[in-house]
Amino acid sequence: MPLNKYPFVLLLIFGPFLSLGWGFYAHKKINEQAVYSLPPELFGFYKNHLNYLTERATDPDKRRYAVENEGPKHFLDADYYEKQLPLDTLPKNWFKAVEKYSLDTLQKHGIGPWNLQLMQKQLVKAFEEKNIFRIIKLSTDMGHYVADMHVPLHTTSNYNGQKTGQHGIHGLWESRLPELFASNYNFVVGRAVYIDSVEYSIWNAFEKSHSLVDSVLNTERRVSNLFSEDKKYVIEQRGASTVKTYSREFSSKYHQELGTMVEDRMKDAMYLLSCLWYTAWVEAGMPNLELNQGFGIPEYDSDELKEIETNYQKGSIKGREEPNE
Ligand SMILES: [Zn+2]
Repeated sequence: MPLNKYPFVLLLIFGPFLSLGWGFYAHKKINEQAVYSLPPELFGFYKNHLNYLTERATDPDKRRYAVENEGPKHFLDADYYEKQLPLDTLPKNWFKAVEKYSLDTLQKHGIGPWNLQLMQKQLVKAFEEKNIFRIIKLSTDMGHYVADMHVPLHTTSNYNGQKTGQHGIHGLWESRLPELFASNYNFVVGRAVYIDSVEYSIWNAFEKSHSLVDSVLNTERRVSNLFSEDKKYVIEQRGASTVKTYSREFSSKYHQELGTMVEDRMKDAMYLLSCLWYTAWVEAGMPNLELNQGFGIPEYDSDELKEIETNYQKGSIKGREEPNE
């Protein structure tokens, strides 16, 4: 289903980022910086596995091509349930939400924050069992979902501006802008702390993202009014293809008008992720983990990777054709 009148070219532009949420750069960076925010007692352990944590940061997006129920973990259409913040009728507890809305409805409109709460419990268990591979795998995946929950357009059914004539804004905000400007961001965030209420912290981050949806959309509309079509987009030669993309001038103006929004969302994601990892370790009784102990990557992980890569190359998302581009 074409997303706009330039479906082909936009797909080409964002092709490498088509399903990568924030884009590879941002996901990798968020997982990496979360490690550097850990208190010393946990930093060494995570640092030792930095390679896996960063290189596999976009696995969950690729998994959407292989696994039926993967898609809903990356978003939640808050506007389907409530027209304004705070989200006070949507149960923050998964079981209560299922009871109230049914599993089918929840899967259809996204389960991002609930999925994270579940993963946090799984991470505590992995720490208790000192299962190094599982700790690192869960931590890596959680990094991805925490990052996604910090993207405003992952919290609305108008996720690609398709309801407001702003097709392509998803990729513009979360891939094009970081790609162009993140090298100037200052990613220093505070030292991670123990979180008393994981549920509150996750939903709080989510609501913050949702509160920015109007600004993301309205700012784009306002800036678009300053640019004629031929100044808003450029045709670029990328290898053998001719593609149409948002011009650097337009992207720059939009980025400027957003203030520090993209940078702030990335930083908040890094910090929350680091706090969640640390909190899970504390909850598990601060197990002593062998610093230099590597882990053989289990066969099933390599098999899974092969499968998701293969399906990713084939390029057909299972479930909702949610762009994330
Ligand atoms: Zn994602």
